[in-house]
Amino acid sequence: MNTNIHIEMKPKTFFIATYGCQMNEEDSEKLSGMLKRSGYTRIDKREEASIILFNTCCVRENAENKVYGNIGALKELKRKNKDLIIGICGCMMQQEGMADKVLKKFPYVDIIFGTHNSHKFPEYLNRVKTEGVQVKEIFDKEAAIIEGIPVERESSIKAYVTIMYGCNNFCTYCVVPYVRGRERSRKSEDIIKEIEDLISKGYKEITLLGQNVNSYGKGLDEDINFAALLRKVNTIDGLARIRFISSHPKDLTDDVIMAVKECEKACHQIHLPVQSGSDTLLKSMNRHYDRARYLEVMNKIKEEMPDCSISTDFIIGFPGETDKDVEDTISLIKEVQFDSAFTFIYSRRNNTPADKMEDQIPENIKHERFNKVLEAVNASVVNKNKYYEGRVVEVLVEGTSKNDETNLMGRTRDGRLVKYIGDSSNIGTLVNVKINRAQPNSLFGELVEE
Ligand code: SAM
Ligand code: SF4
Repeated sequence: MNTNIHIEMKPKTFFIATYGCQMNEEDSEKLSGMLKRSGYTRIDKREEASIILFNTCCVRENAENKVYGNIGALKELKRKNKDLIIGICGCMMQQEGMADKVLKKFPYVDIIFGTHNSHKFPEYLNRVKTEGVQVKEIFDKEAAIIEGIPVERESSIKAYVTIMYGCNNFCTYCVVPYVRGRERSRKSEDIIKEIEDLISKGYKEITLLGQNVNSYGKGLDEDINFAALLRKVNTIDGLARIRFISSHPKDLTDDVIMAVKECEKACHQIHLPVQSGSDTLLKSMNRHYDRARYLEVMNKIKEEMPDCSISTDFIIGFPGETDKDVEDTISLIKEVQFDSAFTFIYSRRNNTPADKMEDQIPENIKHERFNKVLEAVNASVVNKNKYYEGRVVEVLVEGTSKNDETNLMGRTRDGRLVKYIGDSSNIGTLVNVKINRAQPNSLFGELVEE
């Protein structure tokens, strides 16, 4: 008789969905790192996971609505699998009253935490597993920066490195300062250590992350600013490319522009969100610059680095916006000729000053104006991409391309997506590609020896 008792151990797995910006992507890499350290493996099928985690965003309403729909869809999974643990975290949960609202609507959620206490996730998970309780904990104040959290990264070639958290700018439409807290910079030695560690693992490109990287260093004991940090990072051996996002036009100094020009590893690519081409709207958005200042910064960049690509963000349908304001935005697009742009329809956010403004724009007008601006953006992007036809560009190959004609994809130094046919051994290396055809979102080319 076989007396062995066979206990089938279910594999410890997790599924994580990330909504919103790069900051959230970086946070999810840390949440994944903490789960991996606790013995969990990441999988892509939520139906098979022992833990499902949603890292939410509340910058725009449509991101919030998606989260509601997706939590609702988990009810059936939880009914079938009582052991399933569902966690909801991120910016949306950090909003006042939101955690209670979510728990009321979706009582089967097991863990809720906000942006300020995500480092405590393993502790919450443990409580749910050992005590069988529901955990809801939101810190209303930002915690000190916590170093040493394990990170499980999406890519093995390029990585985000957060250099500062929070934002002090309070643009009137934006929830970020409320849900991410005030600006806090990481010590430069911690940033450098993280990048050196990435290089030792074979990473080639890093993107320095912050809501406004140009105000890096304020409040630190060391005497450092963003330009000085760039110069420090530039000295790290083995690193091929440095990028950074986002820059605020009011704070992008000549010093930073010169650092980008002089640091050979810094890519000539600057994301400089303008939001609007109208001085009236820039004022009511509380952006602290006007169209003339934006163009001045732009001219300085182009003077020092004619090959620098410029991307931006626009908000269409801000309260009080007139047809003339939209024309001003379109004329700015024509004047600057952006290399790429994210165009957003204004979304009312609770407790922000813009939400209380009169003259909210009706949805149908917002959409009409959005389409007009998008047309101007696309014309500018196609025009800029066309320049590359027939030229040879350096590409850092990031992986396979999901495209019928090509099998590999990567990015140029100025951030353009390039697709071509090559050997998979190219992945993770720098290659030269001759561009044959430019499309609005990517360049198609062939490998050249050079
Ligand atoms: N800190 C960055 C900056 O100021 O450039 C951007 C952070 S924010 C997450 C990214 C973009 O979202 C902003 O540049 C803005 O265009 C857009 N955005 C923020 N709040 C918005 C709102 N209420 N409605 C529509 N778009 C919004
Ligand atoms: Fe939001 Fe303005 Fe801060 Fe960017 S700078 S995160 S848009 S408040």
